[in-house]
Amino acid sequence: IEVVKFDVNELIEQTLILNSNLLKINKIRVIEELEHNLPLICGSEDQLKQVIMNLISNAVESMSRVSKKRLTIRTFSKPEKKAVGIEVGDTGAGISQEMISKIFEPFFTTKQKGKGVGLGLSVVYGIIKEHGGRLFVDSTPEKGTLFSITLFQELDQK
Ligand code: ADP
Ligand code: MG
Repeated sequence: IEVVKFDVNELIEQTLILNSNLLKINKIRVIEELEHNLPLICGSEDQLKQVIMNLISNAVESMSRVSKKRLTIRTFSKPEKKAVGIEVGDTGAGISQEMISKIFEPFFTTKQKGKGVGLGLSVVYGIIKEHGGRLFVDSTPEKGTLFSITLFQELDQK
């Protein structure tokens, strides 16, 4: 993989542009809270773009049957850790307590045949792990889900 220093905010903007049609068609309101002048992050831009893509597509799918459709993307610096935080939140169906421990497993899906193969989050998990980052999920059924990622400025930091 190609490792570079890059601006997480730019990566998010690019990913939102790639998904703008999807978000529009699904009538999703996007709220961006991107902190200015974030420190640059070390990693594979392509892989981390894939991470944000997968989180956005899950968020969109989780909101297909709810009336409040809001995707929130937040970035912030964590200077004490020399890291950057990224949060992707939705107001979708949420994930039950029993299911939440399984969502990062390959091929785990609650979607109909043909709609999901259950690889999105296992790919997310693998990429964040490879980057020495942190990944958390917090979800409330019928309220929504929040994925939190921490990425470090240097790859060998951990
Ligand atoms: P897929 O999207 O193909 O089902 P993923 O690995 O992307 O596979 O997600 C696994 C499962 O985790 C989904 O089927 C769904 O049940 C749950 N999930 C993931 N993201 C969300 C979300 N934002 N809101 C609610 N459920 C989610
Ligand atoms: Mg998915």
